[in-house]
Amino acid sequence: MSRLLEVKNLSKFYTSKQGFFGAKSETVKAVNQISFHVDEQETLGIVGESGCGKSTTGRAVLRLHEPTEGEILYRGKDICKLSLEEMKPYRQKMQIVFQNANSALDPRWTVEQSLAEPIRLHYPQISQKELDERIDRLMEEVGFAPMYKKKYPHEFSGGQRQRIGIAKAISVSPEFVVCDEPVSALDVSVQAQVLNLMKKLQRERKLSYMFISHDLSVIRFISDRVGVMYAGRLVEVAETKEFFENALHPYSRVLMAAVPKPVVMDDKDELYRGIGKIAKASREGCPFCSRCAQATERCRGEMPEQREVTEGHFVSCHLYE
Ligand code: SF4
Ligand code: MG
Repeated sequence: MSRLLEVKNLSKFYTSKQGFFGAKSETVKAVNQISFHVDEQETLGIVGESGCGKSTTGRAVLRLHEPTEGEILYRGKDICKLSLEEMKPYRQKMQIVFQNANSALDPRWTVEQSLAEPIRLHYPQISQKELDERIDRLMEEVGFAPMYKKKYPHEFSGGQRQRIGIAKAISVSPEFVVCDEPVSALDVSVQAQVLNLMKKLQRERKLSYMFISHDLSVIRFISDRVGVMYAGRLVEVAETKEFFENALHPYSRVLMAAVPKPVVMDDKDELYRGIGKIAKASREGCPFCSRCAQATERCRGEMPEQREVTEGHFVSCHLYE
C-alpha cells in the first residue's frame, strides 16, 4: 500500500472573544500538533469523546477549516500551499460524508439535482445523457432503483438519506473520503447496513477513509488502524487488532472501559462542551493529567512526545519512555 495522505504537525487554533469588561481572549487549541498518515485503500479510524477535535481535524485536512499550521501532503504535495484554483482537483479527490445527510442535501432539490451539482462542477463538459447515466449508476451503487432520484430528501428515512449523502460524496470519483460520524445519528439496526455499504464502496472504488466516530465498536468494525484523540491531541495510533488487544494510553483504556452513552449530541452542543475542556487541558503538560490515575508531577508540567513503542504503535505518554 502506498501513502496517500501524510499529515504533519497539524494545528487548528481558535481565538475566543470573551472580551466583556476587559476579560482576556483565549486561544483554544482545538487540534494541537497532530501527525498521522492514511495509505491507499485504508481506513484510519479516529475515535474520542465529543469535542476532542475529531471533526475539526477532518475538516482541516480538507481545508474546509483552514489549518493554523502544519503540512498536509496529498500524494506528496502540500495542499496547504495551494491557491483556491490549484485546490480544485484536490476538492474532487477529497470528499466528506457528514453525520447528518441534511448538511449535504438541499431539501428543496430532488436527489437528482443534488447529485448533479458536484458532477457538473467538476465535469463541466459532461453531456446530459452521460450525467443521467452517471446518476442512475450512483443510485444503484448505494442500493436504490434509479427512479428514486426523482424524490426529495424528506421522502427518505435517515439511513436512506445517509446512503444518498454517500452517493453525493462519491459522485465525483474521489480517492479519499472523510467520514464524520456518518452512522452516529442512525438506529443501530441501520448502522450496519450503512457501514457495510461503505466497505463495499471502498473495495469497489479503491477508496481511503478517515473515519471519525465516538463509538469504539463502529471503529473496530470499519478501521484498519485506529487513532485516539483527546483534547486536540492524537494520543495513540495502532493497527486495529493491536489496539484492541494492547491499548497503551491511559485514556484509551478509559475509553474501552466506558459504557457507551445513548445520547447523540449535535455539533453546536459538542463544540460548546468541548472548548472548555480543551482550553483547560491544553495550557501545559499532558492534556489527560487531570483525569489520569497514573499522573505524576512531570505529567502536569511536560507534554509527552509521541513515541513508537512497537512497530506502527505510537503513544504519547510519559509511562512509555
Ligand atoms: Fe497519564 Fe502522565 Fe501518561 Fe498523561 S503522560 S496519560 S498524565 S501517565
Ligand atoms: Mg464532531
